Formats: sequence, structure tokens, C-alpha cells
Amino acid sequence: MTDRFGRKIEYMRVSITDRCDLRCRYCMPEGCEKVPMSHILSYEEILRICRAAAELGISRIKITGGEPFVRLGCTDLIRMIKSVEGISEVTVTTNGQTLERYIDELRNIRVDGINISLDTLNAERFAYITGRGALDKTLRGIRAAVDSGIKTKINFIPQKGFNEDEIEDIAEIAFKEGIDVRFIEMMPVGAADADTGISNTDILQRLKERWPDLEPDESVHGNGPAVYYKRPGIKGGIGLISAMHGKFCEYCNRVRLTSQGQLKPCLCYDTQTDLVPFLAGTDAELKKALRDAIVEKPAAHCFGEAVNSDNDHTEHRLMSQLGG
Ligand code: SAM
Ligand code: SF4
Repeated sequence: MTDRFGRKIEYMRVSITDRCDLRCRYCMPEGCEKVPMSHILSYEEILRICRAAAELGISRIKITGGEPFVRLGCTDLIRMIKSVEGISEVTVTTNGQTLERYIDELRNIRVDGINISLDTLNAERFAYITGRGALDKTLRGIRAAVDSGIKTKINFIPQKGFNEDEIEDIAEIAFKEGIDVRFIEMMPVGAADADTGISNTDILQRLKERWPDLEPDESVHGNGPAVYYKRPGIKGGIGLISAMHGKFCEYCNRVRLTSQGQLKPCLCYDTQTDLVPFLAGTDAELKKALRDAIVEKPAAHCFGEAVNSDNDHTEHRLMSQLGG
């Protein structure tokens, strides 16, 4: 379906839990509050919302969190959503810590893609930024994902004073493994300080210095707003997701479902529709609530603009609660 600005909305990010086995400093720092388990949607409820969304034209679903694999039965949910009529693609985003364990199942249920977050290749830095993670586990997860043949992407958030010396090393994974590596600009959501982020304009300049043959790649790589670059004759691509410095709201195709059942049309604002009361009603009522929420999607985010004015963004929950 289209929203009031004529944008085709076809992609829904579904957060299935706010829980996580890591404590990334910008996402879910130590000591943060968790949503009571009784407020988290059941798989049946998530499935029902996905069915209603599919009838409205949502064809692609991303399973996210928190960390999706900390919720028991995550692969069963993926399998069930894959069988929903109208859904053509189900992908998952993970920190990779337990991915190796699930890879056979994911291949068997034909998951359409796996995005793995990796902010550093240095074990000490990894433990620092994730609070409690082990780099080798995520690297094993990446290895297993690439070897499985499932479409794999790496998500990297460049951060000043933390991992800016690793930009080329991370990018090189794309060309070594023949997969996509995406550079995501830090957004000022939850615990994140967007000032620590690095502009993708600077990233691109650095990458072009290292690989002068880097050229724009017009082919479609996924669901989102990433702008891609490739090297002639070499597999693997570099994706730039420039939420802050290259506003792409005009082409935004997504909405988000929080683990508590709220439909968020834009990450920037706390505006949302609580779908829980509609789960007690008919399918038609649920569909109408979804449609109304999608139609009202705001024109654009206002991250980075006029902080502390009326234009300030209003979403202050943690990214782990919103699904990234
Ligand atoms: N736990 C999974 C993971 O780490 O991939 C899925 C959930 S996580 C919230 C989804 C993505 O959001 C991750 O790639 C993470 O790096 C990204 N993210 C978290 N906080 C962010 C922020 N403030 N700005 C941009 N991306 C962010
Ligand atoms: Fe967990 Fe992912 Fe957030 Fe890190 S980015 S705390 S792994 S949800």
C-alpha cells in the first residue's frame, strides 16, 4: 500500500524481543530497563499481524530485536512467517554470538538473508563495545553464514575514537568473502550519541583512496536505503546507509513493529499505534488499524535538526526496544 506521500510501504521490521545477550553501549547499555515479559507479543500474535500486513502489501519482513536468537523458537517463527501468503522474503539481523548453532536450521527453512553486526575486528574492543560479547563467536557465526550460502551482510557502525582505524579492514571483508558490508551512520536514538558517528561522505572518500576502482552499483541489494559501491570484476559490495547525512526519507518503504505490539511508522518519533487492543477484535479491525498507521507515516525524520526545539525528535526509547 502507499502512504499519504505516495511512498510504497512494503517492508516491516519485526522486533520479537527487547532482550539481548550483549550490552552494546549505544543500544542497550548495562543496567537498562527491560520490558516485562507479559507485555511481549506471542508468536501467534506476531504471525497474525504479519498476515494482516501482508494483505496490505507488506511483502518483506526483517526479524530483529534485541537479539532474535535469545528468544526460544525464533527459527519456528521465521518458518511460519515464510509461509504467510504474500510474504516473499524473511531475513534476520543478529549480533552473531549464537548464529553458528542455528545456521543449519536457517538454511533448512530457507531464510532469505542474515545481517550480522560487527563493529570491530579487535577482541578487546569487541568486549568493550558489546559489554559482554566474544569476537570469536561472531566471527564463527559469520563464517558459518557465508559457508551456508545464505545471503549474508555485515553491518558496521563507524565510531569516532573507537573503530575509525578499522574502516578499510572491515570493508575488505566484502571483497574477500564476496558479501555486502554496510556502513551505518549512528542515529541519535536511545543511548546513542550521534556525535560519535562518522559521516558516510568521509567513509566513501577513505574507501575510494584505498580502492580507486570503487564505482556506484545501481543494482538492488536489499530492502533498504543503502547506496552501494562495487569494484569491477570483484564480488562483494560496500553499502552506505546515510541516515544522518544523506536523508533518504523520500524513498522510505518501511514500518516497524515493536516487541510489545506497537506499529511505528518512523524511528524518529514516538508516534505509534498500539495494535494490542485490535488483536482482541476482528481481522478487519486489525487491518484497518495497520492501514491507518501506515497512511500517517511522517514525511521525514528530523534527526540532527534543531535539537531542543519543536522540531526535536521525540523517540527516546532504546534501540533494542525499537528493533534498529
Ligand atoms: N541484535 C541484533 C544486531 O545487533 O544486529 C539486532 C538488533 S540491533 C538493534 C539492529 C541494528 O541496529 C544493529 O546493526 C545495530 O548496530 C544497529 N543500531 C543500534 N543502535 C543504533 C544507532 N543508534 N544508530 C544506528 N544503528 C544502530
Ligand atoms: Fe543487542 Fe544488537 Fe543492541 Fe547490540 S546492537 S545490544 S547486539 S540488540
